[in-house]
Amino acid sequence: MRWTRFVCGLEKGTGLYFLFVRSETKTPSGLPARPVLTSYYKSDHFKHASNTFTSPLAAILCADVFQSMYAQMVCGLCQRHRVVRVGTVFTSGLLRAIQFLHQHWEQLAADIEHGELSPCVSEPLVRAAVAGILRTDPRLAQVIRTECSNGDWAGIVTRIWPNTKYLDTIVTGSMAQYVPILSYYGGDLPIAFTKYVSSECPLGLNLHPMCDPSEVSYTILPNLAYFEFLPTDGAAATAAELVELADVEAGREYELVVTTYGGLSRYRVGDVLRVTGFHNAAPRFRFVRRSGALLSVDADKTDEAELQRASALLRPHGAAVLDYTSRVCTMTLPGHYVVYWELMATTQQEGAGGTRSVDSDVLDRCCLEMEEALSYVYWVLRVVDGAIRPLEIRVVRPDTFEELVSLAVSHGASMGQYKVPRCVTVSAVIQLLDSRVVSSHFSPALPCRPGTVDSVFNRAECC
Ligand code: AMP
Repeated sequence: MRWTRFVCGLEKGTGLYFLFVRSETKTPSGLPARPVLTSYYKSDHFKHASNTFTSPLAAILCADVFQSMYAQMVCGLCQRHRVVRVGTVFTSGLLRAIQFLHQHWEQLAADIEHGELSPCVSEPLVRAAVAGILRTDPRLAQVIRTECSNGDWAGIVTRIWPNTKYLDTIVTGSMAQYVPILSYYGGDLPIAFTKYVSSECPLGLNLHPMCDPSEVSYTILPNLAYFEFLPTDGAAATAAELVELADVEAGREYELVVTTYGGLSRYRVGDVLRVTGFHNAAPRFRFVRRSGALLSVDADKTDEAELQRASALLRPHGAAVLDYTSRVCTMTLPGHYVVYWELMATTQQEGAGGTRSVDSDVLDRCCLEMEEALSYVYWVLRVVDGAIRPLEIRVVRPDTFEELVSLAVSHGASMGQYKVPRCVTVSAVIQLLDSRVVSSHFSPALPCRPGTVDSVFNRAECC
């Protein structure tokens, strides 16, 4: 897609994109495995495309996330007047970059004042690449100090990179939660993103990239894979019910099923999409949710089953989880998972069925146990990238979940069909839960690495 059709003057400048690779790993049978974006960034195609970015390729390809971010930031600052767009793949990554600037602007300004890269970047290839860009520039260092020492960071992106015309990042799906804070830092710059992609195959394009994030729909391109759709509004769906791309109906929701050139056959990607209209004869889809996914701070996707494992730790202490729900908290960055537990006694001595308090250190360990049951992607983001803060369990007082039912019914829900939402996003519900918290517990350590790499690729099973 040609961005110059939508935004004037892009050809006069360059893009500040914070892009990162992950280190490779091996499958149990010894095959090398790495995320699709890492493969792309290492390709010849990207080598040529990256000429239009402020970040040198060596900085992007550096597997040490801190060094990579530092080098990309210093190069972006040095070229501040040339930057016409700022982006990352997922919005959470862009917020992490802004937070990085928040934490390191003094050192970055000192580097620019003296034209000397801090020793915290030690990779020789990265240092050499940055040396080609970093110059002694006391005036620029002063601009950075003035802007960053100001306690108000509203519009910081346009204050530091004044020629930015738009932010380029995914704001749909689980990233939608970050739009308000991104708008705060972006000073109401337009937020645009064209691509709807997955590791399995590219999926579609947003043909109106400058539209409001809440309006984004994607047009699936039929030559990228063979696309079929499983209706999600009926009883348990089967392969016999698969609908062809040409036959989907406006207003209905479907789970996406792909047969790819790479060899996946009728593979359930796990995304639920709603048909919002048509571009000529091609259907347009709004991303609704991940099927089965509850929580996502970044590229992680956590489902109900993964959140349930730690409660077994309570048994020896005469307690059990009566009910639970969860949410992602992004009030402080990086975000973290919050799990609300209502506890009950399970032994006669404690008065089975009654309330039960459990020692704080046991609940701390439950947080860690829960984190250790999560996916490899969660582990990388939490331990390697520091992109997720420790998981938190908030114990709520007795009958809180009864109050949730009453709240739902008072808003028109059917008592008979009410199901406890395992992920809450409605502010009234969150307020009620938070007002009933009796204690709060965090993971006391970093989770151990999950045993296999299968979880990197664990997605819904084939039809
Ligand atoms: P990955 O695990 O890296 O393959 O991520 C692919 C998944 O990210 C997709 O199946 C979607 O759930 C999500 N995703 C990718 N692009 C978008 C987008 N533009 N809007 C919403 N979600 C997206």
